[in-house]
Amino acid sequence: MENDGMEYATISERVAYIKGLAEGLNVKESNEGRVLAEILDTLKMIAFEIEDMSERQDDIEEYIVEVDEDLGDLEEYVFEDLEDELLDITCPVCDSELEYDIDEIDDDGNVKCPVCGEVIELLCDCDEYSDESDELESLEGLDDTDKANI
Ligand SMILES: [Zn+2]
Repeated sequence: MENDGMEYATISERVAYIKGLAEGLNVKESNEGRVLAEILDTLKMIAFEIEDMSERQDDIEEYIVEVDEDLGDLEEYVFEDLEDELLDITCPVCDSELEYDIDEIDDDGNVKCPVCGEVIELLCDCDEYSDESDELESLEGLDDTDKANI
């Protein structure tokens, strides 16, 4: 039983092997024999289902690899395109028509107008931002007043 030579067999092959063993028992016409035959038929069905599923899984894995490669190609295409793209901006201070390369935008999302030197913020809603910092300053101001009172 420890080494029946079936370690590397498929489930179907093992089921067929057990069926052979069962037939050698000569219990076919007994109640136990009928139960055993029923169990083996069910095992055979399970084996078939599992083998069918792993075939499908192999197909899906192959498909995912293909989709991943296509996605890589698409990313390359899109990002190459983006790198070539120039941003058209009108300076809010001096009204100069400006063109910027993606590389010229700094880490904070700002570019500098070469005509008047204005730093143009591309990524933030500037009105909202200055409102918040005003509010913050007035709160700090209150704090200082409170400290002075103590
Ligand atoms: Zn300007």
